[in-house]
Amino acid sequence: MAKKFIISIDLGGTNLKVALLDLNCQIKDKEVLSTRSFLEKDDLILGIVHSVNRFIKYNNLNKAQILGVGLGLPGPIDAKNGIVHFFPNIPGWKEVKLRDILRKNLGLSVFIDNDAKLMSLAEFKMGAAKGFNNILCMTLGTGIGGGLIINSRLYRGFNNAAGEIGHLPINENGPDCNCGSSGCLEAYVGNNRIIAEAKKAFKRDISLEELSRLADKHNRIAMDVWNKAGRHLGFALAGVVNLLNLDAIVIGGGVAKAGNVLFDSIIKTLKNQAMSVQAKRVKILKAKLGNEAGLIGGAIMVKEGL
Ligand SMILES: [Zn+2]
Repeated sequence: MAKKFIISIDLGGTNLKVALLDLNCQIKDKEVLSTRSFLEKDDLILGIVHSVNRFIKYNNLNKAQILGVGLGLPGPIDAKNGIVHFFPNIPGWKEVKLRDILRKNLGLSVFIDNDAKLMSLAEFKMGAAKGFNNILCMTLGTGIGGGLIINSRLYRGFNNAAGEIGHLPINENGPDCNCGSSGCLEAYVGNNRIIAEAKKAFKRDISLEELSRLADKHNRIAMDVWNKAGRHLGFALAGVVNLLNLDAIVIGGGVAKAGNVLFDSIIKTLKNQAMSVQAKRVKILKAKLGNEAGLIGGAIMVKEGL
């Protein structure tokens, strides 16, 4: 019998990643396209269809060898019915029956879900949180995504919208947030916010990468910026840990590359702030699968969906 494969797609506001994986969820081939080169919704859907077909052709496969296609998407998703409610950072999408459209165009099984949920699934099954049972996975970037694993299962909530750690309120008089509310964690530690803080502190333009490099070299100002971000994160996570009694929190995404200064500050604040029983148990871990977590999670979804 011919070997089977899975195609996984990770759509972000900037990049569209497409990969071919084997049934052990190992990536065999991958391409990265620019999301912004597709101006309209229909162009993007067509781009996905072409990319999947191209992968099958160039790897000398036939469609019978493709177990299914899994998509991780940057917004609220009705995974059960295959509907994209909307994308906060890609205009033109509203209540799109993406799964059925792709099934029809590709002639393959298709599964869709929120990208942070798939990353969490990947870190739980194959990454940093392997062996833990009650987990929050969070990605720190322009936005803050999250996914919860409770009793070794992805926890979805009533509308598949659980896990939005970025929109946990931490200050009732806090600044406005992109979600339309205010005082959310993301309004304090999203990329743009950290860069704004750093600019103010250094009185010049500075990138996140430079801010991390400087902190590595023990630059006091850079360390202060990361310490402050870590305190906000630790404060929010203390509430989560008290509520859910997690055994692990996995942190990934671009901001997490800030390294030890950020992690030390998160851990210190969390241990001080959370109740002692819960604080003792929980491990704070760096994500292991990096940029590929979403693609691996998409493949796991296809495998488990069948
Ligand atoms: Zn918010």
